[in-house]
Amino acid sequence: MSKQPKGPTFADIVREVECQPAAPVVDRSGVISPDGTRWHQEMAQINAAHAVDLVANGAHVAWDRCGCGGYCGFDWYTPEYEAQMAKAGTPKVRANKKRRGNLSLWTSDAGGLLVVAEDAVQWGDAIDG
Ligand SMILES: [Zn+2]
Repeated sequence: MSKQPKGPTFADIVREVECQPAAPVVDRSGVISPDGTRWHQEMAQINAAHAVDLVANGAHVAWDRCGCGGYCGFDWYTPEYEAQMAKAGTPKVRANKKRRGNLSLWTSDAGGLLVVAEDAVQWGDAIDG
């Protein structure tokens, strides 16, 4: 007495897998720094003391001049500029009717930290919003 297998055969399963649509499109959100690292926002707002502390401990710095969240790209800085900002002390975040400065914290998949100054922030010699 032989039984016909009921469920799909292995060949059926393979065929089905091969017919699946292509893998979902890779997530291209986030902002990419010049070295190819992809950054995602971790905290929408951090205070100035926290920001300078992070940078003094090796976090990178970028400036979102227009405050759009990275749509038109950030300004990136060399380690020399980052060290200068760490020495310059807490950034000045200005907010008024027309402009709103902000500081946010971003991370990379590799565990890197990035402080993003947005719009009206003054920090060291390099960021003069
Ligand atoms: Zn922009």
